[in-house]
Amino acid sequence: MELGERPHRRFNILTGEWILVSPHRTKRPWQGKTENETILKQSTYDEKCYLCPGNTRAGGAINETYTDTYSFVNDFGAILMDGTKTTQKNGLLMSETELGICKVICFSPNHSLTLPLMKVTDIVKVIKLWKKEYAELGAFEEINHIQIFENKGEVMGCSNPHPHGQIWAQSTIPEEPRKKGIQQKIYFEEQGLSLLQAYLAQELKAKERIVYENDDFVALVPFWATWPYETMIIPRKHYQHIGQLSKVEETSFAEAIKVLTTKYDNLFEVSFPYSAGIHQSPTDGLEHKEWHFHMSFYPPLLRSATVKKFMVGYEMFANPQRDITAEQAAKIMKALSTKHYLG
Ligand SMILES: [Zn+2]
Repeated sequence: MELGERPHRRFNILTGEWILVSPHRTKRPWQGKTENETILKQSTYDEKCYLCPGNTRAGGAINETYTDTYSFVNDFGAILMDGTKTTQKNGLLMSETELGICKVICFSPNHSLTLPLMKVTDIVKVIKLWKKEYAELGAFEEINHIQIFENKGEVMGCSNPHPHGQIWAQSTIPEEPRKKGIQQKIYFEEQGLSLLQAYLAQELKAKERIVYENDDFVALVPFWATWPYETMIIPRKHYQHIGQLSKVEETSFAEAIKVLTTKYDNLFEVSFPYSAGIHQSPTDGLEHKEWHFHMSFYPPLLRSATVKKFMVGYEMFANPQRDITAEQAAKIMKALSTKHYLG
């Protein structure tokens, strides 16, 4: 079967779910349309920004006059640490309290930057902060999962352009990492090998979906990608979490993030919106040898800076569907320059 032409389903080995691929619907998947938008140069400091150094936040707290990275507990966090864990059952209705901490991670004091515009040495500082938070938050008895993520761009619901991400740390394992944990455990127990290490070996042989690689990391469009230009960064070594990265590997990881986000910006010559997140082993005190950490990017844009993919209709009621294949997306991403279009 020629996967590039016929409708088919693809299996996501990490979640155990299927997606529908309909490549026959894209006669010309790549039209090279760029927006030529007027680049509004952001200033390096905005007195109204609640993330800029020294500014007062909505809740009244004042940011430190930080010079590199900065993290603080979200003034309006979705989960809170106080209270005790209780479960309530009423017939078929079940609920339980969720404990946790939400933090905001400022990537840089410079209001005008984004990850692709930051220096590799400065992205390394973000990675070091992620590692520190993973260790510190994970050490809490009540915290068993650390979700590191970034929402970038207004289309993703992020209204503040100041470069920042978030961490939600909580007592239960949420749905996406829970599914991935199960699939990885099944494979690891059967094969004695990390699922993603085996997958990586197959992808490196096939060379069809690789976007970028360096000594320690590979960035690729996963075979089961749902979002048009979805990618993931996988460490070559079987590491359960980012805390295991050496100094050299931190730099390699930063390079992979910079290259990938630069290619994204170059795709439509806009500051490319996405949700990016790291999935890694739970912090419940167990070893979790099955886990192989990875960072995924889910960008919503399809054919241009203004054509967004919606997860509606069939996708809400059945399962995700895509037109452009993972191979077509990878080919386009691979060909894009690693030099940012803004120079
Ligand atoms: Zn700012």
